[in-house]
Amino acid sequence: MKVTVVGCAGSFPGPETSSSCYLVQAEGFTLVLDLGNGSLGQLQRYCSVADVDAVLLSHLHADHCMDVLPLYVARTYDPNGRHPVLPVHAPAGAEAHLSQAYGRVDAPGLDSCFAFSEWSSGTHRVGPFEVTAARVAHPIETWGLRISHGGRSLAYSADTGPCDALVELSRGADLALYESSFEAERDRSAPRDLHMTGGQAGQQAAAAGVGRLVLTHLPPWNDPAVSLAAGRATFDGPVEVARPGATYEL
Ligand SMILES: [Zn+2]
Ligand SMILES: [Zn+2]
Repeated sequence: MKVTVVGCAGSFPGPETSSSCYLVQAEGFTLVLDLGNGSLGQLQRYCSVADVDAVLLSHLHADHCMDVLPLYVARTYDPNGRHPVLPVHAPAGAEAHLSQAYGRVDAPGLDSCFAFSEWSSGTHRVGPFEVTAARVAHPIETWGLRISHGGRSLAYSADTGPCDALVELSRGADLALYESSFEAERDRSAPRDLHMTGGQAGQQAAAAGVGRLVLTHLPPWNDPAVSLAAGRATFDGPVEVARPGATYEL
C-alpha cells in the first residue's frame, strides 16, 4: 500500500500545509484518513474528489474532520452529476456534529452524500484494507487506527497522550504515524491525555517495536528540529518529520 501525507499541521493549518489528512491506497482503492480544515484543496494534488472511496475520521476536532463539508459540496453539486454515496467511518454523532457545522440539517442532508458508520473497538473491513480501531487518550472520543494490507501495516495515533492502547494497536507495524504536538516536555501542571512530545512518540514507537516512525501533527509554531531530535533520542529506528507530499510504500 502507498501512504501519502496530504496535510500534517497540528491543530490549525500553517502556510506550508493544511491540517491532518493522509491518503492510503492499494488495489486501486483510495482511503482518506482524516480530512482536517484546509485539506480538501491539498488532496486534489493527489486525487480528484471523485476518486475517494472511503473516509476514516479519527475524531471530531475541526483539524481532523471539517473538510468533510466542502467534500459534501463538491460531490453533491458536481455539474457532471452527483457522486455515489461515500462511506465515512467516524465517532458517534459525526453526522449531527457536521450537519450543525454546515448550518443546515434539512434535505438534502449529509446522509444523501455520506453513509456514516460509528467506530467500535476491533477490526473492520474497508475496501481491500483491514482497519483496527482502538480508543486513545484525548479529551473527546478519539480512535487510533491500524490499517493493514498484504501483510503490511500503518499505525496512526490520531491525537493522543501516551497510552498503552496505542502501543498495543501499533505492535510490530511497519510505519508509525504518530502525533508530536508538544515541542518540549511539559511541566507537571500540563494536561495529560491530550498530546505527545517527540520524545514520548519515540518511547511509544519503541515499546510497540515499529519499523519506522514519522512524527506528524506539529503545530506551525513548533520547531520540527526539536521534535525530531527528541524522537531520535528515544527511538533507535528511522525517524523523520512528516512533510506534505511525502509518500511511503509499505
Ligand atoms: Zn488535532
Ligand atoms: Zn484533537
